[in-house]
Amino acid sequence: MSEPILAAVMTAPRRPIELRDFPRPDLPAGAALLRTACSEVCGTDVHLWHGRLSGVPYPIIPGHVSAGTIEASRGRITGIDGSEIHEGHRVVFFDVHRTCGRCRACTVHRTPTRCASRRVYGITDPASEGLFGGWSQAVYLEPGVAMARLPDAIAFDDYIGGGCGLITAVHMIERAEIRLGDSVVVQGTGAVGLSAIALARLSGASRIVAIGAPESRLSLAREMGADVALDVTRTSVEERRQAVNDLTYDECADVVLEAAGAAAAVPEGLDLVRVGGRYVIGGHYTDAGPATINAHHQINRKHLEIRGCWGSEIRHFLRAIAILETNPSIPFRKIGAQRYGLEQINDALADAEALRIPKALVDPWS
Ligand SMILES: [Zn+2]
Ligand SMILES: [Zn+2]
Repeated sequence: MSEPILAAVMTAPRRPIELRDFPRPDLPAGAALLRTACSEVCGTDVHLWHGRLSGVPYPIIPGHVSAGTIEASRGRITGIDGSEIHEGHRVVFFDVHRTCGRCRACTVHRTPTRCASRRVYGITDPASEGLFGGWSQAVYLEPGVAMARLPDAIAFDDYIGGGCGLITAVHMIERAEIRLGDSVVVQGTGAVGLSAIALARLSGASRIVAIGAPESRLSLAREMGADVALDVTRTSVEERRQAVNDLTYDECADVVLEAAGAAAAVPEGLDLVRVGGRYVIGGHYTDAGPATINAHHQINRKHLEIRGCWGSEIRHFLRAIAILETNPSIPFRKIGAQRYGLEQINDALADAEALRIPKALVDPWS
């Protein structure tokens, strides 16, 4: 049990990923070591590689959402539901940890995703502190990390196919408060947008229009439940607005979900919401720059509701597991269909960056 653990390290933005050996950690009481079955390379990892997220303590081991089997543990460990977790159990964990529960963000404003103590596996945990990321053969689960057993019905690949995008989309759908029969536009067909399409359908949306690119993602958007998928690179703003109008009695959509992360998506999205409708912005995870809007025409006169959506909480993580377990026909797995070993991580990043894939599945043992 003393052999080192191989992990892929992002030493700095734009630098090639390096493979390094890490010592097997000594486990304090309440901690566990997860043998990684798979992790992912998502859009956030591309942002990390581009240096576009603030406060990242490079070098880091990326891979914030991961799944595996408990290889070792110390003391009594329980999942979120209170059941005991033992060696050999298939386990997933919530990547956000150390949320304090005592600060003003946590207690007064009830916005724990804005807690200053909050840390995230694979993003804000430095490699100098150990195996805090899934691009590794094992992940250190420190005491207090929220864990759940992965139901037998969910394969590891299905879980990672949904992954962080699904968990984020669960939060966006909660913020959107979609009602039965609502018409919904989803801007963006990356991992978040694709999951949001499926969840809008599960929430009872009557019409779903996806806007994105390239064609491979648009065809997956249709498989996830979009009635219409429009190529943002081959249609004009006017053509897209007309397409949405044609499906919504010339009213535009009840709800628009922004998962594009492009500044230009926001003024367009505001125009795609009907009078009295709701706009949820979840794609601007990094600073995409300013956008020009007309508050009179696009917000005030339309009596519009605009909501941001930052990060996710444990309840979104648990709901994502339940959704995967009870909806095996939704092809979440296809979002992460391409498999890469640790030695191919640079290729995985390049493929995700070029939008050749919505996300990469990382198998540290292949
Ligand atoms: Zn706090
Ligand atoms: Zn992610």
